Amino acid sequence: MTTDANDETYPRPLTLSVVVPVYNEEAVLTALAARLRPTLDGLGEPYEVLAVDDGSSDATARMLEDLRVLWSQLRVVTLRRNSGHQAALTAGLHRARGSYAVSIDADLQDPPEAIPQMLALARAEGLDIVYGVRADRRTDSVFKRRTAAAYYRLVRRMVGAHVPAQAGDFRLLSRSVLETLKALPDQRHVYRLLIPSLGFPSGRMTYRREERVAGTTKYPVRKMVLLALDSITGFSAAPLRLATALGALSLVVCFLFLAWTITVYTLGRTMPGWTSLVVTVLFFGAVQLFCLGLLGEYLARIYTAVQARPTYSVAHDTVEEQQLSDFADRARSPCGGSTGRAGAGS
Ligand code: UDP
Ligand code: MG
Repeated sequence: MTTDANDETYPRPLTLSVVVPVYNEEAVLTALAARLRPTLDGLGEPYEVLAVDDGSSDATARMLEDLRVLWSQLRVVTLRRNSGHQAALTAGLHRARGSYAVSIDADLQDPPEAIPQMLALARAEGLDIVYGVRADRRTDSVFKRRTAAAYYRLVRRMVGAHVPAQAGDFRLLSRSVLETLKALPDQRHVYRLLIPSLGFPSGRMTYRREERVAGTTKYPVRKMVLLALDSITGFSAAPLRLATALGALSLVVCFLFLAWTITVYTLGRTMPGWTSLVVTVLFFGAVQLFCLGLLGEYLARIYTAVQARPTYSVAHDTVEEQQLSDFADRARSPCGGSTGRAGAGS
């Protein structure tokens, strides 16, 4: 994916890109800007806020346009259709121009005020990654907490203990990590598992998970299940091995049944064993279907990878549009000089 918004328009390189995926978030955008902007302005360093509009159908696009009028560092990347949280993150991370990028949800569950701390920690300790770790999830629903705990337990077991528990998508990445991510083939990534697997030096910053300021979750159970499936099949072959183990176990059970059948036969007590027959058929049928299903999941991943279709498609990027218009201005001006625009992210 090309990102090359050329940097000559921006005399000072950007320190920070804040990537915010937004999907039908009209209810939270004003509150987000009200907290994010003073925090980032307070850094005193050049930054951009990269809002990735993931095919919103409410007033999100219009509101982002309105915000951009007064907030020159706000950059809007619009996807042609809803492609999902992780794909929106990909679009943002690939286009981020800062020396560091922080990804954060739009709903203010992750506090923007923690961003300067993350940056300071990365600089002080020379870290490439700082994970935001949710120390306290009391504000999440019981269902969300339970499913999240089960998710992290499962992925840490299957993928490895290097995956930090309770670290979602609020994290800081250095330019080296961003370049590494850009070089990867465009697939359905699950960043909370992919990034720890890259092995960059990392640190953690704990924070309290707040309640969503407004609106409703954009992660219905269907999307949660898809994320869990992607997490497992994308990072671990353990389920395939489970299928092998189940197959082996079934074989042992089969042999036991065989021994029992032969014994009963030789004893001359060959009563028509209807129940055991039905149980056996059902049991092995279920095991086979389960194993086929597992194979299917992996096959589906290979199928989509082979198709190599992009996971998202960008309709507009305000920075690229600005650069095109600056370029046209320069070409028109008699001495071919710059228009003198210097605002980052406009
Ligand atoms: N999001 C997105 N595309 C989607 C679903 C969600 O860009 O298809 C964004 C959403 O706007 C928010 C973030 O991803 O900024 C996390 O979503 P949400 O807060 O609804 O998830 P939850 O916190 O309930 O797990
Ligand atoms: Mg949320």
